Amino acid sequence: MTGRGELAAVAESNPFRAAILLLADSLVALGPHRAADIEASTLSGLLPIDRDYLLVQLSSITFGGPRFQTVECPGAECGHRLDIRFDLRSIEAGHRSVSDRVEATLDNSRSVVFRLPSSGDQAALYGMDNRGDNNTGDTDSTQQADELLRRCIMRGSEPGSADIRDVLEQGPAVRLRLGAALAAASPELDTALELTCIHCKQPFKFVYEPVLTLMDELRASRKALMKEVHYLAFYYHWSYTEILNLSRPMRREYLDLLDQELRGQSGGVAV
Ligand SMILES: [Zn+2]
Repeated sequence: MTGRGELAAVAESNPFRAAILLLADSLVALGPHRAADIEASTLSGLLPIDRDYLLVQLSSITFGGPRFQTVECPGAECGHRLDIRFDLRSIEAGHRSVSDRVEATLDNSRSVVFRLPSSGDQAALYGMDNRGDNNTGDTDSTQQADELLRRCIMRGSEPGSADIRDVLEQGPAVRLRLGAALAAASPELDTALELTCIHCKQPFKFVYEPVLTLMDELRASRKALMKEVHYLAFYYHWSYTEILNLSRPMRREYLDLLDQELRGQSGGVAV
């Protein structure tokens, strides 16, 4: 992860789009693609499970595998806070579902085929459930389901198979059910930890969220990044672009050297 990727991700308020930008900056190779031709549009086609797995790897090589996190017991009477430790390197790629499409039959007996939602679809749909510009009488979740169906519909293989107009003519319950079927068919990375509260002894599940956790971490460390860039520019006189091109571990290594050097003179740079 370079400073350039970190800043690009932090500048984007949609976390799913930010994740795509960060991966586009960080990937050296992806299948037949090499860094120079890996763009956000290339990565928008990835399934969310693949994007999440790549983010876990990126977090792991940047920050290290072992993670420490404070979680709250969900017990209604409890709410005890627990410090947990887990290792990102133990998260496995998992098994892909057999089919990459979902077939359904509408009320008018026409068949319809959808592809699975991608990372790009997830980014496009982010925030639709609370945009508050709903004048159609539909609920926000129906609008979100409709947008997902619009994006994922494919041409059916049978003659006379349904198109998006047929789908949107269905009642809200059917459209919501189709949207839910697409979500249910999408494979997910298994990032769940089974925990037991040390206070009330209730077992509960904690799910690590690769996108939201990483984006929160990067937002929280933006100020520190700016300070690091400032120190390197101030002492080494490298250009802004050169400094942002450094990976986070390289940046830290130079700052450590600088700190040791200056400590001998005047007390360090305290980074
Ligand atoms: Zn508890």
